Amino acid sequence: MTPFAVNCGRSFTWHGCFNEAAGVCAERRIIKEYDLAAREVENIFADILERAKALDPANARKWFDNLTVLRLDGGSLEIGCPDGATVQFLRDSCKNSFTRAAQHITGHLVSVVFNVDSHQQVSSRPQRIEPGLKLHLDYTFDNFVVGPSNRLAHASCVAVSQSLGSTYNPLFIYGNSGLGKTHLLHAVCCQVQQKSDGTVIQLLSCEDFVNRFIRAIEQGNLAGFQSQFRTVDMLVIDDIQFLREREQSQEEFFHTFNAIYNNGKQIILSADSPPTEIPSLEARLISRFNWGLVAGIDPPSYETRVAIVQKKAHLRGLTISDEISEYIARKVQSNIRELEGALTTICALAITTGEQVNLELAQKALEGQIKLAARHISISDIIEVVTGHFDVRLADLQSKKRSQSITEPRQICMYLARSLTKHSLEEIGGHLGGRDHTTVMHACSKINQAKDNDPKMNAMLSELTKQITQAPGN
Ligand code: ADP
Ligand code: MG
Repeated sequence: MTPFAVNCGRSFTWHGCFNEAAGVCAERRIIKEYDLAAREVENIFADILERAKALDPANARKWFDNLTVLRLDGGSLEIGCPDGATVQFLRDSCKNSFTRAAQHITGHLVSVVFNVDSHQQVSSRPQRIEPGLKLHLDYTFDNFVVGPSNRLAHASCVAVSQSLGSTYNPLFIYGNSGLGKTHLLHAVCCQVQQKSDGTVIQLLSCEDFVNRFIRAIEQGNLAGFQSQFRTVDMLVIDDIQFLREREQSQEEFFHTFNAIYNNGKQIILSADSPPTEIPSLEARLISRFNWGLVAGIDPPSYETRVAIVQKKAHLRGLTISDEISEYIARKVQSNIRELEGALTTICALAITTGEQVNLELAQKALEGQIKLAARHISISDIIEVVTGHFDVRLADLQSKKRSQSITEPRQICMYLARSLTKHSLEEIGGHLGGRDHTTVMHACSKINQAKDNDPKMNAMLSELTKQITQAPGN
């Protein structure tokens, strides 16, 4: 039993109980009192957590689950986290919210520390995902805006993620490019990965499936390929229309499908059109694709587009008014990828000019009054300009060096990559020495703050963005 000592403003006196306890009854009494103490601590912590969530709703959604109280005594609160990444992120980005929350609830100054809760860690689940699988961390259900155009596809993905193999199997999602198919597929995988034990997931594009099949044949390792795909709990293949006219791959996929289906495991597919409209696809595959649920995604309505723009802006740490999101949603109607492109353009212009994002700036950006081609910026473009400006080498940015002269350009690269491209935090971290997404998130919030508080930083970011967006080729 871990002793708890509560001394944080709430009237609670279990030390006294200990002193009074004596004789045969003492042990039971202490245990009873201990339970009370532990419960009281849990209650206080629950209040602190609620308060912290209210103070920091953006981070709360992703990071405040599964936190425990390890210790609460005198002036200090030790919070248990499920893993090291959470410890690092909370320490770097949320300590202030927890300190304020603890002070508010207890009425005392409390210093907050985060550590891995070894109990949670021991019971942490085995690796559930096939090696090499890259999940886009922004593509979650939380970040997906639901509207009439995608309601069925979204609901069926949620249902499947809650009970694999038994609701809709296969689940077939179709729709034009840029309407959210890949996002939903990743969201199912994220959700399953978070909540289930030992589930083996294969998520890949159909092109990847075909290439791996070809490589397996070349290397004489078909058996290895088959065991890799036929024994999974969930196979998710994006853009299955890529199978068209590839007879041998269709044959292999047919057997893969049967093996997984017959094992009662889940299959999820996406395509740019419904199964019957995919040309040159074998009839037996078309028929199987129709066995479960076929759900289409239509272009989003105006209201959904407005909500998506706001969601995307929020993810990039931008606050934009309703007027601006409505303007963008009216201006870009075709697909959501283009909506994001519009936001990127506005964001780039805002950083370049150092101005706040307002309607006038949005109009300038989207009506081409300012020549700015921000749509095809790559992380390499950003790295090239930043390393040139600071006179550092890419190898330094990718190294473990933590001196200010290296950390600052590295963090600026991360911030600009997040603002000017749609790469995920994980991908950005990958380009900069394999850093994890929490590090990138921390860098972005740090530079964002510096930009607001330090005019020199603001001017430097403008200058760098100007160079990046005006680089030849963009
Ligand atoms: P597709 O695979 O259908 O071509 P994607 O899933 O790649 O489309 O989506 C393109 C972009 O639009 C992604 O950045 C995705 O996050 C975004 N997107 C699509 N639909 C939604 C939605 N309903 N809510 C939020 N973002 C969306
Ligand atoms: Mg896609």
